[in-house]
Order: sequence, then C-alpha cells, then structure tokens
Amino acid sequence: MILQSPTTWIEVSRAALLHNAGRFRGALRPGQTLMPVLKANAYGHGLEEIGRLLMEENFDLFGLHTAEEVFRLAAMPEAADRRFLLLSPPPAERIPDLVRAGARLGLFDFEGLDEIVSAANESDLTVPIHIKVETGVQRQGFTTEQLTELSERLKAASGLHVEGIYTHFANIEDTTDHTFARKQMKRFASARDLLAAQGINPKLVHSSCSAAAILFPETHHDLLRLGISLYGHWPSTETRVSAQAAGRNRLDLQPVLTWKTRISQVKEVQAGSFVGYGCTWRAETDTRLGILPVGYSDGYDRGLGAAHVLVRGRRAPVRGRIMMNLLLVDLGHIPEARRGDEVVLIGRQGADEITAETLAGLAGTINYEILTRINPLLPRLPVD
Ligand SMILES: *Cc1c(COP(=O)(O)O)cnc(C)c1O
Repeated sequence: MILQSPTTWIEVSRAALLHNAGRFRGALRPGQTLMPVLKANAYGHGLEEIGRLLMEENFDLFGLHTAEEVFRLAAMPEAADRRFLLLSPPPAERIPDLVRAGARLGLFDFEGLDEIVSAANESDLTVPIHIKVETGVQRQGFTTEQLTELSERLKAASGLHVEGIYTHFANIEDTTDHTFARKQMKRFASARDLLAAQGINPKLVHSSCSAAAILFPETHHDLLRLGISLYGHWPSTETRVSAQAAGRNRLDLQPVLTWKTRISQVKEVQAGSFVGYGCTWRAETDTRLGILPVGYSDGYDRGLGAAHVLVRGRRAPVRGRIMMNLLLVDLGHIPEARRGDEVVLIGRQGADEITAETLAGLAGTINYEILTRINPLLPRLPVD
C-alpha cells in the first residue's frame, strides 16, 4: 500500500469521508446541493485525493480558494463537466481560463465586477457569478447600501450570469448564543429581497458552513458549503453543545485523516540526561526514547511539546522541543516498542485515539489549523 515507503504520511479514509458526506446528503431536500469545500489542500487531506473520491461519488460542485486549486482539480481525468466555485477573487487575467475550466466566481466588490466584465467581453464568454453579501464579518461582499448600485451595474453589464448569492457567518461556531447569526440571516434575507425587487433572483442561494448546516436548517437554502464536518470534525465544542441543546446531536462524524510515521531509532538515555534543543527536558530515570522523523516543518506544531503519540496502542509523551524534522517520544513504559514501529500522531491506534481537537487545545489553536497546516508535500494515501 505504501508504495514509496514514506517516513511520514497521511491516510485518508474513503469510508469515513463517504459516511460524513452521506449524513448530509441524506438530509438534503429535493433541489438542494452539497458543495464540498476543498480549499487549503482539502483541509490538509489532499486536494486531488479528496477531489477524486468525491467525484467518484458524483459530487460535481466544489468550493475552492485559489485559481491554482481550480486548475489542479480540473486537470484530473475524473473532472470533466465538474464545476468549481471560487470563494475568493482570482487575478483578473486568469478569469477566461477559469471559466473554461468550469469555475464560478464569487463577486465581492465593484472593482471585481469591472474586471470580470472586461474579461468576459474580451473572451466572449459568459461568466457565472455568485454575489457575496456582507452581513457581519466585514471581510468580503457588498453591503446593503451598495446593492442598488450593484443591481444597476449588473443590469447594464454583458457577459455575466448571476447564478448565485451568498453570505458567511461571523461567529456561528464560536458561541452557543446565536443572536448575531440570526441578525445575519435577517440581513441576508433583506439583501435578497432588495435584489429581487430589481429583478435579480439568483438560482443558488447559500449561507451554510458546517456549523450553520448542522444547527440551522433555515440557512440551507439551495446549497450547503461544507468543509470541516465533511472531514469528520465538529466546527467547535460550542457547535456540539448547541447541537445537543437542539436535539441534533445524533450526527456521528468520523474523522477522515490519520497521520502516521515510524520510529526511526530507539535510544537509551540515562537518568539525569538533558534531551533535545534547549535542554528543556531532563530524564528523571533511565528510559528509552523513540526518534520520529516528523517536525514542525511537517506541520506538527512546535507548541505540541505536551502532546502524546500512539505506539503499540499506547500513549507515548513527546519529550523536549519539537524540531524542524524530528521529535522525541518517551518509550520507557512501552518496552516492546521497536525501531520501525508504526506511530500515530493524529488518529486511532488500538483502542486509543489522538484527535486534532486534542492537539489544537495543546497548541492553543483550532482543529481547522491543525489539519490545514499539515505539510501538503507529505503523501496522502486513500485507504478503505
Ligand atoms: C471555508 C468556508 C466554508 C466551509 O466552512 P466549514 O466551517 O469548514 O464548513 C464555507 N463557506 C465559506 C465562504 C468558506 O470560506
């Protein structure tokens, strides 16, 4: 299975991915679409690997961040007739190629509108666009005050097809108090009303990220934009608590990613020895250390000095500082551990599991960051 015998690699579970996708797909109403979000190397899971698995399951619309991601997916043999929605503005000169590759473009401001219109007219293409409405993040999109001007400009423009309209929530996963999210839902509804009064009624209305999709069916509209939950992770503890309170806690997400490596060396150290850069850890007793060929350049955060890895189904604590390409773990209580043993950094081994959420807590960040920062150069291997 591991063709090139990598020293550290990512396994992506097809079964878990399809399980998660199925949970959401099974709940769609007729006419609704699930759009997997594959930006950031498919949340660290591998853009092409995840893209291929989902295309084989007939997903045909994908959410992406860069033009590069569109071209990489569109180049795959499985990608014929697939569509891609760019959730950030691309460089204007790439628009014609993007449209030919099946891209839909988010529309975020008037400058972007001018760029898209001139690219459309120069290339004789019709560019499908999705209007982004600013409802509270202050990040991207048109404010309510700009919508009248927008509708006038859209009516005057040629070469555009207004296919969608969307917004994004500011704090829906950060809190169990959804007052602000509800305000955003209202603003989004008024924006759609305002445009509809001008005759602009895009076919695809969308506002759900994972947390919204899980908690608020009224945010689903025509399209769900699913990232983290598709990969088997809850957006946050707050989302889980809110889901529980709303009786929606039966969603059994299964993590798709497992991060593995092998012990490259086992080393005896004597009581009193300092271990690693900075001499930050000192062995209290004689022990054995395992050297793992993984470090912060692979995305194993330098803040994970208090983490554990799994060896022979048991927890081995990280010792000393995490280095660029190496880290040390204590095997003193796992005498059967050997050079060459498989090690799990994230995922299950035996009866135990190290989650991205646990690592996020230790590193002072969120599961999204732990997953998306795993070095894209590590091999991604689809399993089961
Ligand atoms: C990344 C992103 C999503 C996916 O969010 P998750 O919380 O990972 O489901 C949805 N919509 C937009 C606009 C995004 O940028």
